[in-house]
Amino acid sequence: MAKRKIVLFGGTFDPVHLGHTAVAGAAAEHIGAEKIILIPAKRSPLKDFLPVASEQDRFAMLALAVADDKKFWLSDYELKSSGPCYTLETVRHFQAKYGSDTELYWLIGADTVDELQRWYKITGLIDECNLCVMFRAGCKRPNFAEFEALWGRQRIEKLQQNIIETPLIDISGTEIRSRLAAGGDAADMLHPKVADYIRRHRLYKSKAES
Ligand code: ATP
Repeated sequence: MAKRKIVLFGGTFDPVHLGHTAVAGAAAEHIGAEKIILIPAKRSPLKDFLPVASEQDRFAMLALAVADDKKFWLSDYELKSSGPCYTLETVRHFQAKYGSDTELYWLIGADTVDELQRWYKITGLIDECNLCVMFRAGCKRPNFAEFEALWGRQRIEKLQQNIIETPLIDISGTEIRSRLAAGGDAADMLHPKVADYIRRHRLYKSKAES
């Protein structure tokens, strides 16, 4: 019997934007997955700065962004766990929860490829789930050939097969935060309810303005 397919999508989501939902939706359709679980992180382990919005605000914005789309689910697993969260451990949590007749797909954007060699137990992660790289505007086409000596041919083949040609959507959290900090508007990059939440809660304003 064919396995159930579930997509896991982690990130800081600071804030969640239309790029996240569009590419994850396209990737899930390509995979034939029944649902996408968004998993906000406490922080990005490889970035040396903390998210700007609180965990509570980031989670609330995610809930608003996906409220109308039944494909999207939301998990506070990483926010609730004590200590640092490694993707491999999160994948193991969901694998144990859904069982061996479910195949898990972990999504990342192409900007993350160069970081992967610094991820915790990356070879285990490649082996234990389908690590899928999505295209991202402004990033080169993902390619893993240079990592063959590190991770071995079979893993490289698996990664290459799991590259998903998602639409190029030129939106990032960084751009949204910098527009808002400069007193500008970023509504064109956000779900209307998320844009409204940001306005009401006066998020991402520069100190001088808030
Ligand atoms: P920031 O600019 O703050 O780093 P971000 O927009 O990259 O934020 P994250 O929450 O860090 O958002 O992203 C979570 C995941 O989504 C990462 O794997 C990232 O590569 C991917 N991603 C984010 N935006 C896009 C996009 N527009 N196209 C493709 N992938 C994206």
